[in-house]
Amino acid sequence: MLSCERCLKYAEEKHYCPYCNERLSCCESPPMHVGDGLGWGAEVMFICLNNDCPTFDKGWEHIEEQYGHSGSYRYMLLPGQKKGEIMMVGSKDAFTGCVVDPEALMAQNKRYHAEKEALDQLDASIEAKDIKPALHLLLDEHAALLGREKACDSLYEINDLNCIDPIRNHTFKNIDIEQKVNMTVAEILKANFKKECPYCAEIIKKQAKVCMHCNKDL
Ligand SMILES: [Zn+2]
Ligand SMILES: [Zn+2]
Repeated sequence: MLSCERCLKYAEEKHYCPYCNERLSCCESPPMHVGDGLGWGAEVMFICLNNDCPTFDKGWEHIEEQYGHSGSYRYMLLPGQKKGEIMMVGSKDAFTGCVVDPEALMAQNKRYHAEKEALDQLDASIEAKDIKPALHLLLDEHAALLGREKACDSLYEINDLNCIDPIRNHTFKNIDIEQKVNMTVAEILKANFKKECPYCAEIIKKQAKVCMHCNKDL
């Protein structure tokens, strides 16, 4: 997936098909084929995905007659070029799955920057006893594993019971992180002479015989 500001700019560029005048769609370039050694030389390409485009509409018959297989043509323009070219596509759906969505891209960018910011603050957050950066990394399922592991260590250092509730309200998709988080929570509880009530999950004194929240015998 693209996540660069440059690609966002591409997605905003307006180019039009010389055959049907429809606006071209900004698509991620497919990975180059091993062996052809060339690739597209660009991260994105602008393609006319209009199914009523005469180039596409008439292409089926032409390819059938010429090559005896199924396919058609679409107009394609590479970034920075004035003139595009006609390329062969095997199906109607080719390239429709890789249209760059500026909104998704922007959301991705925002997430990435927030992750980076949290990571940058991690060391200082231990000194400041601020659990927010570590929690941000841990609760972001798209954040890099190394940073999330480091976040666990930070939480252990900060040793603040307030980090437990947000953690318990989150479903961890990565088993390694989940295990490390559980170990960290156990350490923090231990260091504070606390435990979680097995019935209501509230944090209570380690020695408690009755839970002060749900009144169950322990
Ligand atoms: Zn067209
Ligand atoms: Zn309880």
